[in-house]
Amino acid sequence: MAGLEELRRKLQPLFDADIGPSPGMSMDPCESYMVSSEGAVNLLSKSSGVYNFSEHGLEKQTNGIIHDIDRSEQAYRCSSNEMHVFGAIGCGSSSIVYKAIHITIHRILALKRINVFEKEKRQQLLNEIRTLCEAPYFQGLVEFQGAFYTPDSGNISIALEYVDGGSFADVLRLRKSIPEPVLSHMVHNLLISLGYLHGERHLVHRDIKPANLLINLRGETKISDFGISAALDNSVSMCETFVGTVTYMSPERIQNESYSFAADIWSFGVTVFECATGKFPYSATEGAVNLMLQILYDPSPSPPRDKFSPEFCSFIDACLHKDPNTRPRADELLAHPFIRKYEKETVDLGAYVRSVFNPVSKLKDMADVSFW
Ligand code: ATP
Repeated sequence: MAGLEELRRKLQPLFDADIGPSPGMSMDPCESYMVSSEGAVNLLSKSSGVYNFSEHGLEKQTNGIIHDIDRSEQAYRCSSNEMHVFGAIGCGSSSIVYKAIHITIHRILALKRINVFEKEKRQQLLNEIRTLCEAPYFQGLVEFQGAFYTPDSGNISIALEYVDGGSFADVLRLRKSIPEPVLSHMVHNLLISLGYLHGERHLVHRDIKPANLLINLRGETKISDFGISAALDNSVSMCETFVGTVTYMSPERIQNESYSFAADIWSFGVTVFECATGKFPYSATEGAVNLMLQILYDPSPSPPRDKFSPEFCSFIDACLHKDPNTRPRADELLAHPFIRKYEKETVDLGAYVRSVFNPVSKLKDMADVSFW
């Protein structure tokens, strides 16, 4: 624990939410962040205090008390000089994701880099950090390993468990569609994670889509990207904010009505539809407004009955009820006939994922990492 104490000293508190900024700090209260003369950055969260990011890692302060964010000393010591970064593995609207090795623990990680000086991105970053680091570990959610700040670039890097299969969007790029029995097992596992998010964490994810559902080469599914997720106080509370892209958005969100967990069920239904058919169910080529009109006024999409089982079609229909109050909850969907139909069938999800990706290119990825 001596190393931890040393790091603690290096990470002197830069700001106390009650006392105010220390000397040598510059702060813009509207922007909710500060950069210290020592080259660390503090992000202020109204609800959960101050997050101190430096090159050495991350700490959280509530009322001036420093808390270890991570559960283990190793995760805590997730600092920039212990990382060897390789190529980019993906990018989204707010970040670029790189593959990296955490040298001291010999673990491959995904580093999600976000520029802290861009206000929109900063809010997403805070949201994601809060959601990830305040969660107990749950196997079906991507695991948080720590975070650090790189003063030269102004980037904050979030270190996440590297999910070596990639996203469902990657699977669809290579396979076009996922067969029903395989999909049923994947959906079962994802519903457990979604049920946990909704039921235990009271979080609406708000960005469920194929690119945010990950799967590793053992076939374990993970929900990722909590940049726009929202915590609700109880099961009847509602969100009011309009955030995210419209593509997988439910009708009530598009109409700017208050919405809740059922909005994720709609997005999940559209995602599962796309995974089974290989096609996004709306013609999204004529612009966002047109797409919104289709989502609002066209009948909900339904899979072709001659190509898919009645159980699958019924699952999609249930998720895509226009009225959010009639959509089943994630835990209720676990008992849906589409899940039950295949549960006795042995499906090796790991073997399926490994068959999707070219073993030569996966081996090459590993070799690139090994010979740095
Ligand atoms: P957006 O806001 O557009 O949804 P983002 O900027 O928040 O995206 P992410 O969706 O988190 O970025 O990541 C972008 C891509 O990087 C993912 O679609 C996925 O392909 C890859 N990726 C993200 N996290 C991981 C991870 N832990 N392991 C492997 N790949 C990952």
